[in-house]
Amino acid sequence: MVTSNYTDADEAAIAATIVDASCELNHGPATVASDYPAVDAFVIPIGRQLSEMEYEEVRKLVIPVCKDCAESLSGDEWTLIYCLKCSGNHWINRALARLKYRHHVLWLSGCPECGGKFGGLYFADQAIPAAKDFPNAPSEDL
Ligand SMILES: [Zn+2]
Ligand SMILES: [Zn+2]
Repeated sequence: MVTSNYTDADEAAIAATIVDASCELNHGPATVASDYPAVDAFVIPIGRQLSEMEYEEVRKLVIPVCKDCAESLSGDEWTLIYCLKCSGNHWINRALARLKYRHHVLWLSGCPECGGKFGGLYFADQAIPAAKDFPNAPSEDL
């Protein structure tokens, strides 16, 4: 979907995750997640950049998304802002935004919603820091 270099293991994780899952992205106020069945998922490698060339993967975060969100994530109209600490997220309409957004997703470590102070901003094509940097990351709560 967003990342084209998924491995077979990633594809298997996606298939397992989206069974009976609902979209975990924001559809606005007064919406119910179960109205948005998941049809695809993000796989986000969380790890550590050891050096410029070396990267150690600690775990993978898999986020189920519905058809509408999957389409928005591959189009040029929307940018998703996603907090790795609280999974809070919202969409930005690029045409209406004050800033110029190019990425489909921007990952935050901490946002105003979870009271976490802003800990960094990561683009979809960057390594995302290891689990220890995200004590409250969603998959740790399971
Ligand atoms: Zn959705
Ligand atoms: Zn947050």
